[in-house]
Amino acid sequence: MNTPLHFAVMGNPIKHSYSPLLHALFAKQAGLDIHYEKVLVPIEEFEPAVQTFFEQGGKGLNITVPFKLRAYELAKANLSPRAQSAGSVNTLWMEDGNLHGCNTDGIGMVNDIQRQGIDLKNKKILLLGAGGAARGVILPLLETGCRQLLIVNRTVTKASELVAQCLTGLPQYADVLSAGSFEQIQDQWDIVINATSSSLQQNALPLPVGLFTTNSLAYDMVYTPENDTPFLQQARKDGATVASDGLGMLVYQGAESFFIWHHVRVNPVPVLDALRQQLVTG
Ligand code: NDP
Repeated sequence: MNTPLHFAVMGNPIKHSYSPLLHALFAKQAGLDIHYEKVLVPIEEFEPAVQTFFEQGGKGLNITVPFKLRAYELAKANLSPRAQSAGSVNTLWMEDGNLHGCNTDGIGMVNDIQRQGIDLKNKKILLLGAGGAARGVILPLLETGCRQLLIVNRTVTKASELVAQCLTGLPQYADVLSAGSFEQIQDQWDIVINATSSSLQQNALPLPVGLFTTNSLAYDMVYTPENDTPFLQQARKDGATVASDGLGMLVYQGAESFFIWHHVRVNPVPVLDALRQQLVTG
């Protein structure tokens, strides 16, 4: 009998992670036999834990809070463009004896938006927040051919620095990408993405009314069982056509990791339905 291929997600804390469930459902769909576990890694032991995992024949790792930057450092010699642009890594694997890293969060979010029938080409996109999650989605958003991507942040200097840093590597997007403050938000937007953690704190954001175009999407990276966050409530009241939380982002980033490791494309939609069901029933 063959031993199942070994995968894991490493983080601290890790109890909350849905990655084992996602990958079990993907593997079932693909007809693969895998073993995927959660590993709680003490803060000071991340690097040796990764090394030991691969030395013992592990095939792939997902990395979550607070280790994504350290995973980036570990795989620095072999980073995908998405990881380079994100400045962090959530997917690790070995190739020819070398550690490789990618960040699938951004493409996961873009794929989840497209799942909802929304084309991002030529769209005006407002991205709220300038932390790690915002940084991770910038390149995948720009690659969709959006017309404008404005990043606003409570601490404005962080947004300006992030944009300056991105444009150093991606000067071709100088006419598309810009930074600002919440107070400077004007006009109407096709897509407004909340990449702040405001919804986790149950806070509304200081957004002007009349923010959304007639055919618009409000997307919150935070997710809840009922697809309802303070930001999404605010957006629905203000006329957003579609309001989506970030559960699909979670599922689609997993599907991209699965593709990197197994070279198999799975259908994330039934997995998203199953996860939503699990969240609702507890
Ligand atoms: P960071 O801590 O790196 O950044 C937090 C960001 O939120 C900063 O821009 C911060 O602004 C802003 N912020 C926090 N509180 C407020 C507030 N009350 N009002 C306005 N802005 C606020 O976090 P991450 O970027 O890693 O994560 C952001 C969110 O995205 C988290 O809630 C996380 O759960 C979610 N996420 C979801 C994923 C998914 O798969 N669905 C994947 C990754 C992240 P400032 O700089 O001024 O402090």
